[in-house]
Amino acid sequence: MAKEIVLLLTVDSLRRDHVGCYHGQSLTPFLDTFAEGSTVFEGACSQGGGTPESFRSIMFSLPPPLSLDERHVHGKESIAKVLREAGYATGGFHSNPFLSSHFGYDEGFETFFDGGGKQTGDATLLGDLGNAASIALMNRGPATDGKEITSRALEWAKGARSPAFLWVHYMDTHFPYLPPARMQGWRGSLRNRVAWDMLMARKIQAKAGEPSEGVRSRVMSSYRLCVREVDSYISTLIEGVWKHFDRRLVVMTADHGEGFWEHGRFGHGGVYDEILRVPLIVNSTGAGPGRRVQGLAPLADIKPTILRQAGLAQDGGLPLATGEAVTPGRKLVCASLDPPDGTRTLGFRSELMKYIRKESLDGSKCASEELYDLVRDPGERMDVLADRKEEGSAARAGLEEVLARGVTQALVDKSDESEVARRLHALGYD
Ligand SMILES: [Zn+2]
Repeated sequence: MAKEIVLLLTVDSLRRDHVGCYHGQSLTPFLDTFAEGSTVFEGACSQGGGTPESFRSIMFSLPPPLSLDERHVHGKESIAKVLREAGYATGGFHSNPFLSSHFGYDEGFETFFDGGGKQTGDATLLGDLGNAASIALMNRGPATDGKEITSRALEWAKGARSPAFLWVHYMDTHFPYLPPARMQGWRGSLRNRVAWDMLMARKIQAKAGEPSEGVRSRVMSSYRLCVREVDSYISTLIEGVWKHFDRRLVVMTADHGEGFWEHGRFGHGGVYDEILRVPLIVNSTGAGPGRRVQGLAPLADIKPTILRQAGLAQDGGLPLATGEAVTPGRKLVCASLDPPDGTRTLGFRSELMKYIRKESLDGSKCASEELYDLVRDPGERMDVLADRKEEGSAARAGLEEVLARGVTQALVDKSDESEVARRLHALGYD
């Protein structure tokens, strides 16, 4: 009897424009080839600026947390929980403290590796201290490397019964970007180099404003090496898993991207597009030739996609069949919590526009608002709120409505659909 597996593969802080099938950089040879036989979502959109914000939509199809408490997901219905109840073998392998059992991410997994116990302790310590504590802990000793995560996941897959659900999360592209020695051609000792890299990274985090060109290029080249490294782990993982299962559904994405000072900030957080736009590649046995799908595809669609493919839901999720398209005119809520700063940033994004509001962590005080025309200004350089007050008011009201209903997106307005088509056509797109 054919053995079946669903593999959810997530990479922390992986920028969309560093994956070759999106931007032609030659950093991800395996993923690029893999993408050729897969469905590639051009408009994949994370709904959170950090791990806890984004993973609520990936694993639970829930809107991002608006408070620190909401980062806890105990008792919620994750993909793993639903599949386990349906008889799946379930295994999860990661080492991000925000995804640990402390926050409830182990629920639904028969086997759960979250950093070999070290991270569990960290997470308890983390508690609700927030990002400052997590950054400090990550700096102290980064997460379990992809090599170990891969071999643990493969060991599990080898003995897993069918059907199986395997979630693997890589941290290698997460700050402080420590590529293995063999990728750097190091002259100095490993110990010195690592110490230097970490010191440099800490300095950058503490430093306000623009870095020197030398520091910037050093940081980005370390990041690129980590992207290459993670591609090789993904290759080993997918090829290894395929040896043990005949029918596969693979969903590969990133929880969010990474900012390299595009908006004056290094690292993740916030809701600008260098953070929200992520890779999303879906490969399923027998799905036919690969294709690319345009349009906004939220990561909250991953759960319904997996459940539908597993025969546990009738519809919903990402369009995988030839000829299917994403629902146009969608407006997504996204959020990023910044406890050290005492603020949260909310976004309301369609294909055309993005409204951003920075406010106090409890939402009582608005600090700033911005509005961007994403068609004319995809880099979000020019705030048009002062010139387009009506659109700003509509976006503000739309965001309020979505927040009040506690959902991931606004109801699709058909008039937006034709407006999208009209404006894109006017700019030469079809
Ligand atoms: Zn993350």
